[in-house]
Amino acid sequence: MFSEEDERWMHTAIEAATERGRDPSLSPIGAVIVLKGRAIAVERNRTEELCDATAHAEMMAFRKAGVAVGDMELRNAVLYSTLQPCGMCTMASIWSKVGRIVYGAGRDDVHQMYFEDRNFDTMNFVADAYRDDLVLEGGCLRKECAALYYGPDDDVPKEEQGNI
Ligand SMILES: [Zn+2]
Repeated sequence: MFSEEDERWMHTAIEAATERGRDPSLSPIGAVIVLKGRAIAVERNRTEELCDATAHAEMMAFRKAGVAVGDMELRNAVLYSTLQPCGMCTMASIWSKVGRIVYGAGRDDVHQMYFEDRNFDTMNFVADAYRDDLVLEGGCLRKECAALYYGPDDDVPKEEQGNI
């Protein structure tokens, strides 16, 4: 399902995610947007340093990629993310017109602190979108990506849980 090229870009996303270390409490999430075989944006989660709840890795990457191509629409581009995109980033993926979303760890691979909702899988936004040309594939380098985050059963102190 995943090509060597996919894995190579996911490695790039992991590198971006861990630019400031591998502390799982800092939500080290990386995202890469690739168009015509070239990375047009490589970003990481920057919510803490920018004091901006929307500064998720994917959002940062959409902003940079749009400027790079001079267009808000990123048709035929591929978004790589080390973690399943949240609802905001999934919606932004739909609006940005990327052609494919590839993520590493899924919500069942990590602690619930990385997601905003209890039960609803926001990936369903993709299934319900008007667009029929958006491909979604999870589990690329799943183990390596999941290792960046607290596991589902880890006992995470409440003050470190960003979603509550
Ligand atoms: Zn997000």
